[in-house]
This record gives sequence, structure tokens and C-alpha cells, in this order.
Amino acid sequence: MSFRVASRLATLPPPATIAMAARARELRSTGVDVISLALGQPDFSSPQEAVEAAYQAGLEGNTGYPPIAGQKPLIDAIIRKFKRDNNIDATPERIMVANGGKQVIFNAFMATLDPEDEVIVPAPYWVSYPLIAQMFGAKAIEVPTREEDGFRPDPDAFRAAITPKTRWLVLNFPNNPTGAILERRDLEAIADVLRAAPHVMVMSDEIYEHLTFDGKKHLSLLEVAPDLADRILIINGMAKAYAMTGWRVGFACGPAPLIKAMISVQGNATSGICTLAQAGSVAALDGGMERIQMMRETYQKRRDKMIEFLKDIPGVTCATPEGAFYVYPGIAALMGKKTPQGRVLDTDIAFAEALLEEAHVATVPGSAFGLSPYLRLSCAASDEQLEEASRRLAHFVKELR
Ligand code: PLP
Repeated sequence: MSFRVASRLATLPPPATIAMAARARELRSTGVDVISLALGQPDFSSPQEAVEAAYQAGLEGNTGYPPIAGQKPLIDAIIRKFKRDNNIDATPERIMVANGGKQVIFNAFMATLDPEDEVIVPAPYWVSYPLIAQMFGAKAIEVPTREEDGFRPDPDAFRAAITPKTRWLVLNFPNNPTGAILERRDLEAIADVLRAAPHVMVMSDEIYEHLTFDGKKHLSLLEVAPDLADRILIINGMAKAYAMTGWRVGFACGPAPLIKAMISVQGNATSGICTLAQAGSVAALDGGMERIQMMRETYQKRRDKMIEFLKDIPGVTCATPEGAFYVYPGIAALMGKKTPQGRVLDTDIAFAEALLEEAHVATVPGSAFGLSPYLRLSCAASDEQLEEASRRLAHFVKELR
């Protein structure tokens, strides 16, 4: 039997990170001490109250098929969350729960995109937006941001990128991979662009909203531009702020007709979300902000340390992230150099590969996020690991010729 994948998969580019992750595992299995700063996974445990609530839900028999959109206690907790954190009044028909933020994105794009439609994605971006859009035959229109601007997008560049085929503008702030956040004036300028383009929807991925530094607070586009409520889809979830990546609970707040279409997509794919995970998520969302405050302070200290290290490495630049848990150093000045083992660093992929092979530090090259030459280093690692990884990176750069 000959096997053939569907064309929507055949045209997807291979993820730049997979080969690197496989090689890191291979090196580790041969006893090499690889430090990985490649993962976007919080290194904290999930809240105890979430674990207890999930267990209790199981004991109480909350184990049947749930409603596709989400169980009422979780929908209600999400509505409370939007009021508390974003000053947004949501109603149940504007909310849905999915298997992680990623499924929310999948549902939204599947519900709305036709072949040749366009999705504007500021670069660098989290890889899934363009890849999922591409699965439905749509085109990702990349709008690069600049390190000098702190990786904040230029609203005029959005204006210039909008065509009659544009269906979505994707915003992800605090940003993965750069940690950039948007100020009120940035959001107001973007809202103005959108008012002049009434056919464009906005996907605002706010999954890192609680992880902001230096006393800065995340602002939601919907809070700043409530008149655009029928065009803004907010994506959020339990993964990052609550360290609940494996529970697979994400949620959305958006226009009721869009949410209805997304529920229809999900009903034909996975149905409702694991009931125990939903019960745990209610407990976490209602469980107070102290843990989040602790994580935010820890990430900020680690960011400070990483920036301190990076600024002492000649040839490396680094904008200071204002949120999330990554740093995104630039390595343009090191392109074309050679390692002691003779590898030529002509791209950030070659740099990341050589750093892994010769200094045993796993990172993700900027190419994976659509803006090169950069590296993404995750601060979701211990102080000792971050220090040792920085030492190895500094030594690696020092040896380049
Ligand atoms: N959005 C961004 C920007 C992310 O970085 C991630 C995970 O890395 C997600 C969404 C997906 O989160 P989830 O684990 O809830 O699917």
C-alpha cells in the first residue's frame, strides 16, 4: 500500500526545532551534560489546590462527557478572571474552553480561513500561528519588528500589510519569543488601524499576561478598544501563569457567532475537555494571585541575570524583555565566524547547532520564529543551569574566529 499524506501537511515546512531537540536527547543519552534552554515550559509545579480539586472531581464522579464549550463552573471562573484581570465583562456565549491555547487557535482558524486568505503575523512569532493558518491553505503575512523598537510592531506596517484578503491580525503580547509587551498608546494606534479595516479580526494571544516585569501590567486590546468587541478573539489558558502545561486547558473570549463556530469545530474533533482538568482549573483560577506573584518575581530575577551575562559577551545584543520567560539575543555580529571544530556559523540555525554540539547548550534559533539571526533562551530553568549555560555560551563565543 502506498502512503500519502494530505497536501495540507505535505506543504508544511519541517519545524526547525525538532532535529535540534532530537540531537540534544541523543547527546544526553550518551552521557553528555546538555543544558536545555529550549523549552517553553514553566519549571514550577501546578497549584496544589488544582491537583486536589481534580482528585476530588474524580471521587465525586465528575467523569462523564462534558459540554463541548466547557463545564459551567469553569466558564463562570473564566468570566470572573476576565473581570478581575482585564476589566472585561464577558457572558457565557462569548467563552469557550479547549485543549490548550493551541486548540483555541486551531478552532478559530479552521472556523474562519479559506484557501488564499491572509493572516498577518508580526515576526518574531510563536510558530503555531503561521503553521496552523497554512494547514487551511491560508497565507501568513509576516510583518517584521525591530530589536531597536523593543520588538514592538509598527502600526503603519500593519496598515500597509492589510489587503482585502486579510482575515486576521495576530497579536501575542507579552510575546513569545521576545518578551515584548504593548503599552496603551501602542494598542490605541493598532485599534485605529483596525477601525479603518472593518473586515479584519484580531487574535490576541494573552497567555503570558501575568508574567510582566518592572511593575508593568499587561493591557488587553479589548480593554482599550471595547468598540472592537465583535472582532477581537482573546486567547488565554492555564499553561504558563499557572504552570499547568500538561493539563491542556486553554480558553477564549470572543464574539458569540465566532465562538459558536469554534465550538462546532471542536465538537467534530475532540469534544469537551477532560473534566478533572476543568475542575483543577477552576481551583487554580480562583486560588489567589500569590503563586503568580512569586513566579513573576523569580522570572524577573532570572531575566536580570541573563541580561547581565549577555551584555558582557562581545558580538551579542539583547533587548530587555518586559514579560514572558525568554530572552532573545541577537547574534548578527557573529555570523560568518568559525568554531574551533571548523563549523561555519552562517545562520542562526548553524549557530544553535554548533552551540549544542560544541558547548552542549540547547537553544532555539530565531529562524524558527521568523526573525534572524537570533537565539531564544528560556529562563524556565534553575539559576545554576542559567549561569552554567551563560558561561558556556560566553566561552563558545570567545573561541570563535
Ligand atoms: N500561545 C503562546 C504564545 C505560547 O507560547 C504557547 C505555548 O508555548 C501557547 C499559546 C499554547 O499553550 P497551550 O499549552 O495552552 O496550548
